[in-house]
Amino acid sequence: MTARILTGKEPAAVQRAEVAGRVGGLAADGIGVGLATLLIGDDEPSAVYVGMKHKAAVKAGIKSIDRRLNSDVSQSDVDAAIDELNADPAVNGYIVQLPIPAHLDTDRTILRIDPNKDADGLHPVNLGRMLLGLPAPRPATPSGILRLLDHYQITAAGKHVVIIGRSGLVGRPLSVMLSQRPHNATVTVTHSATKDLTELARSADILVVAAGSPGLVGADHVAPGAVVIDVGTTKIGAGLVGDVRFDEIVEIASAITPVPGGIGPMTIAGLLANTVILAERTQEDKT
Ligand code: NAD
Repeated sequence: MTARILTGKEPAAVQRAEVAGRVGGLAADGIGVGLATLLIGDDEPSAVYVGMKHKAAVKAGIKSIDRRLNSDVSQSDVDAAIDELNADPAVNGYIVQLPIPAHLDTDRTILRIDPNKDADGLHPVNLGRMLLGLPAPRPATPSGILRLLDHYQITAAGKHVVIIGRSGLVGRPLSVMLSQRPHNATVTVTHSATKDLTELARSADILVVAAGSPGLVGADHVAPGAVVIDVGTTKIGAGLVGDVRFDEIVEIASAITPVPGGIGPMTIAGLLANTVILAERTQEDKT
């Protein structure tokens, strides 16, 4: 069997076009949509991701605002930058590009974001709303994964999904979203302390790998006909590599996402979708 390659290019383009249409609708009412990013430090991959987010925003008609702080910045300077973004009427949504330098407090930083401007859907208010199944911006990467599956008509309902990685950014929110209606999957979350990872992974109908460990998953981890979603992106040399040994698995799985060009574009499209939702909500609050 040679797996179907699930690229993010097409579904992301469809979602970006939807976003552009809604941005156009708001513009017709005289309302602009603004997305800001706060990049702290000089991590090269982070700077590349931020650049891609800005490019996609501008293409969708969203005003793109690029805020940067030096790597040796104090937490109180970060707090002040966040307060400015919270107060800026031109900013409907913004993200703090993660990871931030180790001397800073990620939780404190996320908690300071106005939940009504939380374009990444990572503020506890929005995560809590997600847990209850209420409307809120959803974390962009998990929503991108769900949208990609939907685009390729791969249903998770009744299936066993194994997720490798339990971060607050990917694995944990994805596990909640997949287990909720309408996705209705049965989910196992695994992590670095999991025993028998290979065996568990082999029991998956859909295997999602978000560990940040290049080449972690090989032929032994994948049952014939499984769907494999590789979220991992690690910069090695000039390129990006995933967590999955693609060449081994492409002959076993029924479908697989590539790296780059799989979940990455879906994450960016999900971020733009969250921004327009936040802008529409601001507009509804005013009317
Ligand atoms: P993280 O470091 O916060 O979490 C990694 C998780 O993987 C942890 O829960 C850890 O327990 C688990 N893990 C690590 N090694 C393991 C192993 N050998 N066996 C089992 N579990 C293991 O990382 P993150 O922020 O969730 O990101 C994960 C990867 O996804 C990274 O490569 C990141 O760059 C990538 N990512 C990509 C996108 C995208 O848009 N494509 C978005 C977010 C993250």
